[in-house]
Amino acid sequence: MIDRDLAVRLVVAASTRVNDHQEELSRLDSVAGDGDHGVNMATALAEAARRAQQGDHSTAADVMRAAGSAFHETVGGAAGALFGSFFGALAAGLSRSAAPDASLLVAGMEKGLARVARVGKAEPGHKTMIDALAPAVSDARKSVDRHDDLGSVMAAAARAARRGARATAGMRPSAGRARFAPDHSLGTEDPGANTVALVLESWADQLSSEVRA
Ligand code: ADP
Ligand code: MG
Repeated sequence: MIDRDLAVRLVVAASTRVNDHQEELSRLDSVAGDGDHGVNMATALAEAARRAQQGDHSTAADVMRAAGSAFHETVGGAAGALFGSFFGALAAGLSRSAAPDASLLVAGMEKGLARVARVGKAEPGHKTMIDALAPAVSDARKSVDRHDDLGSVMAAAARAARRGARATAGMRPSAGRARFAPDHSLGTEDPGANTVALVLESWADQLSSEVRA
């Protein structure tokens, strides 16, 4: 079950991981974008972690909702609104039960992907965060349908997200700021797809360290 304290640990793990990679994320964004992605995401997640830890939350859904609000209220930029929508949808999924499990988390991730696609109007292959998120959600769904435990579901999602992020190097962007310089970014991975991979990897690692402990 995903309780309030676990949700807080997941948000904090994501914040630490993205903070550790923020220079690399901004460097990726500087190739065809404006070079602010690492700072945007590290700033939003630091605020998300602060709100997760300090808020008077009683459920995992409350924690994820607070994290989502930090993205919307802290950073400008396309990715801030899109990641905020993703966390908001996760919260909505988790809120459907008093004891949310892996299956509700995956339902929330599916809702999150749909919301990001609707808000950003990007499709797979457009070289955006969708190219990591869509395969991650699809493999998480397969894993949960096999009745894998939460840690295995997140590990499957993280592996698929990383593969998806790597594959964006071979794409020309047709969404976001990078679309104005489509050839510039050929050979470079999409920054937002990398953030998706980092967040899901941090969640998979957090869950596997808790099983071992
Ligand atoms: P900005 O582009 O406004 O400077 P960021 O640099 O923080 O914002 O984020 C850039 C990332 O946002 C891209 O790498 C991409 O993954 C994601 N992104 C941008 N536009 C879209 C969109 N329309 N749909 C999905 N993802 C998008
Ligand atoms: Mg940018």
